[in-house]
Amino acid sequence: MDRVECIVIGAGVVGLAIARKLAQAGREVIVLEAADAIGTVTSSRNSEVIHAGIYYPAGSRMARLCVQGRRALYAYCRDHGIPHRNSGKLIVATSAAEVDRLGAIRSHAETNGVDDLTLLSGADARALEPALRCEAALLSPSTGIIDSHAYMLALRGDAEAAGAAFAFLAPLDSGMVTADGFVLEVGGDAPMQLGCDLLINSAGLSAPAIARRLTGMPLDKVPTAYLAKGNYFSCSAKAPFSRLIYPVPEPGGLGVHLTLDLAGQARFGPDVEWVDRIDYVVDPARAERFYPAIRRYWPALPDGALMPSYSGMRPKIVPPAVAVQDFMIQGPKAHGVSGLINLFGIESPGLTASLAIADDVAQMASE
Ligand SMILES: Cc1cc2nc3c(=O)[nH]c(=O)nc-3n(C[C@H](O)[C@H](O)[C@H](O)COP(=O)(O)OP(=O)(O)OC[C@H]3O[C@@H](n4cnc5c(N)ncnc54)[C@H](O)[C@@H]3O)c2cc1C
Repeated sequence: MDRVECIVIGAGVVGLAIARKLAQAGREVIVLEAADAIGTVTSSRNSEVIHAGIYYPAGSRMARLCVQGRRALYAYCRDHGIPHRNSGKLIVATSAAEVDRLGAIRSHAETNGVDDLTLLSGADARALEPALRCEAALLSPSTGIIDSHAYMLALRGDAEAAGAAFAFLAPLDSGMVTADGFVLEVGGDAPMQLGCDLLINSAGLSAPAIARRLTGMPLDKVPTAYLAKGNYFSCSAKAPFSRLIYPVPEPGGLGVHLTLDLAGQARFGPDVEWVDRIDYVVDPARAERFYPAIRRYWPALPDGALMPSYSGMRPKIVPPAVAVQDFMIQGPKAHGVSGLINLFGIESPGLTASLAIADDVAQMASE
């Protein structure tokens, strides 16, 4: 049986950032990836937004890691030439009741360390985005967009330059906690047994299932996995916005918002659809809920302009009735298994926070 110091399961954006960090710290790292390439699951089914860190519960891991990760990500993009744009975003109030909520959103953001939000009148907001209908808005200048695939390629390049190796089409099937680490059964075309001292379970949607297949991992510490699908619609009309446009959030989600890719193409979503199984097909009928929501801030959205685009699955670890969840980064202090770190519930802002998550995991691994 071959043995390495550290195995990372999953080559999504988070697994890649962790592999890079551990390899650069001098550890011997192998990344096991079930698919044939990096970043083919949730990491390629998101909005590619660099989030400021406005809404997450105060004191949560999400809030801290989003703010730290956002700063680190902009610096990384600049240093590595990763295409990105610090586009900014407007949170728009379209009624008097919503105007009242903007102040509370700004105060909450400040408790999270996001102290650059500016309150704009409707006229000031329209001076920035003339097609907008709103009573008032908050401008978030530190929100941006990123080419997430260029970012993931750079992370992989850094990891490999520091000596990390990648095995594709190499799904972790099961494993066992032993007296001196782990013995893992890797499936795929070339099944093998691998031993390691440090095991990072960064398998995204599959992370809870993998933890359950690890003999010796206490099952009562593994959260139940739920799925909240996010559907996107693209827009055949040219959307006349240069910033991201978000409504005031609604219970359970951020509302139907407009994000842009780096080519300026607008997409709307993601909405929130709790589902029992993974199915990425976007039901065209869901557009009927998008039109009125979008027209509250963009009245000129033409009929028939929305087209089903793609969807992503949020790796939830709380049921629908629980409004908020936090990232769960679970080390030996939490579950009692030496050398094992599980990452559960890494939904948005996991892309933004990826470098900061990697710092936390590396710190936990060295304790
Ligand atoms: C709809 C949506 C919109 C989002 N928008 C944003 C956004 O705008 N900004 C932001 O910051 N974040 C956003 N996110 C969050 C972000 O996309 C995720 O947090 C991030 O991609 C998670 O990365 P990951 O590496 O944990 O998971 P994944 O990308 O899912 O990677 C996990 C990897 O593990 C592999 N794997 C699974 N099982 C096994 C196994 N048995 N053996 C080996 N490998 C395995 C998978 O093949 C996969 O490659 C969004 C998420 C969703 C769902």
